[in-house]
Amino acid sequence: MKTKTKLNLAVGLLFTLILLLTILGSYYIFAIKRDTENILKANYNTLEYSRKMLSALDDMDSGNAASVAVFEHNLTRQLANITEAGEEKATKDVEANFADLKRNPTDGSVKTVIRQGIFEVMKLNMDALKKKSDMAQNTAETANWVIAIAGCLCFLIAFNLMVNLPNHIANPIRELTQSIREIAKGNYRQRVNFSDANEFGDLAKSFNAMAQKLQEFNDSNLNKLLIEKKRIETLLDNMHDPVIGLDNEGRILSANSEALKIMGLKAEEIVGQPAAQVALRNDLLKSLIVNEFESPKAHPMKIYANGKESYFERENVDISIVPTGEEQSVEIGNFIILRNITVFKELDFAKTNFIATVSHELKTPIAAIKLSLDLLQNERNGELNSDQKQLLESIREDSARLLKITGELLEMSQLETGNIQLAIGKCAVADIVSMALEAVKTQADQKEISIVYEAFYLPEIRADKDKTSWVLINFLTNAIRYSSEKAQILVTANVESDFVSVIVKDNGQGIDPKYQSRIFDRYFQVPGKSKSGTGLGLAISREFIEAQGGAIGVESDLGLGSSFWFRLPLT
Ligand code: ADP
Repeated sequence: MKTKTKLNLAVGLLFTLILLLTILGSYYIFAIKRDTENILKANYNTLEYSRKMLSALDDMDSGNAASVAVFEHNLTRQLANITEAGEEKATKDVEANFADLKRNPTDGSVKTVIRQGIFEVMKLNMDALKKKSDMAQNTAETANWVIAIAGCLCFLIAFNLMVNLPNHIANPIRELTQSIREIAKGNYRQRVNFSDANEFGDLAKSFNAMAQKLQEFNDSNLNKLLIEKKRIETLLDNMHDPVIGLDNEGRILSANSEALKIMGLKAEEIVGQPAAQVALRNDLLKSLIVNEFESPKAHPMKIYANGKESYFERENVDISIVPTGEEQSVEIGNFIILRNITVFKELDFAKTNFIATVSHELKTPIAAIKLSLDLLQNERNGELNSDQKQLLESIREDSARLLKITGELLEMSQLETGNIQLAIGKCAVADIVSMALEAVKTQADQKEISIVYEAFYLPEIRADKDKTSWVLINFLTNAIRYSSEKAQILVTANVESDFVSVIVKDNGQGIDPKYQSRIFDRYFQVPGKSKSGTGLGLAISREFIEAQGGAIGVESDLGLGSSFWFRLPLT
């Protein structure tokens, strides 16, 4: 039944009950009133007429003439007010006897008979009065009961309606609200079960249809997501780079087949496990987690994989999303990608070996050329004209440059193959500086550049004298090269807490800030400048200084000059 019909019925029933109670009450009030009126009209009036007739009869004894008229008047009214059985006969007897009395007014016995007749009428009415009074009382009692029972029934019905009707409406609404909340939480399997054929039943049907559609939509989306997941998993599995996916709590979500291969683990052993826990039994994962925030290019990882030593560069890719309805992005995990750089490493080794061999092979003939030049320039071997001297001088410069280049290439290849041999010991900074100044003297003189060395007392440092002089020579050679003629170069050395720093300051062309961080990279040369060098000098310098536990750097203003510095620990 429709809720609206139910409400109408309930309200209608309440109205009916109120009406019923009103009718019942009115009916019984009317019945009691009718009974009372009957008593008043019929019996009370008779008693009044009888009383007046008796009084008139008494007055007749005392010779009052008007009393006959009073008697007759009341007798007439009594004759018109016959209500009880036997009353008519008794009244008629009184009338007949009164007629006798009028004919024979002195007959006392007739008066007695009349009095008895009037008493008879009175008795009849008194009995009726009592009977009717009892009847009225009965009616009142019945009314009491009927109204009380009807009242109780109405109360029970109204109470029942009061208790059940709100629940009948509120319960489905509560259930529906709960179901809507479940749907909002994403539980699309939620349904409501009102089977009644009312508005709530219709609502339940519509709600369930909506939930069904949402579920289908969700399932189809889920299916799409699963397909996409499979696609990405396949893509990851076919990558040659190992990839490990972690959630934001460090739990392993995925690992492609390459990652599983190099770790020597199975997917079911690690997926869903905290990475830190797996790392306890897997050294590779341990090193990946420990070095998580290290610059990926710092140390390529050497791992035994695919039956040979392989090299990997670790890259950390953070995954952050902006949740629906929010503005701030949230980090939900990260991927550790190990780029397989074995091929490049192999090529790099080949290149290094090649350079090492070539530069080594070139060094001897160049040294021989230099020796021959010395012999040629020796006056004892014959006079040379000025053109020949100039030619020999330019051959000497070129062979010096060649020697420097092959020297740098050889140093670099030694560094790359890890063959760097350091002879670290105590040494004085002044010795290193004077060694370097001596080495660049000719070059500086050629450009009439003065090199000023400023230093106070300096404690000894822990360093490889030759390698450190090499670095300083490189700084000075560059400073000379990038300074104009007759310029000045300032070399200073200071103590800075536990270190001694050596600074080479020139007033040359300076270095654009955007290249300053790259000039220490291998083979890097500032674009647009003379390409006579190899771009290796500063890279080798950095390796030498860092291998000795020191640091190296540059401060430069484009067009104003540069200050190259290194610092090494005190003994
Ligand atoms: P190179 O053999 O080319 O000199 P370096 O590694 O010694 O290689 O230097 C790298 C680059 O840094 C140079 O090509 C040059 O452009 C720049 N550079 C080095 N020293 C200076 C300097 N004192 N003034 C300006 N530029 C410099």
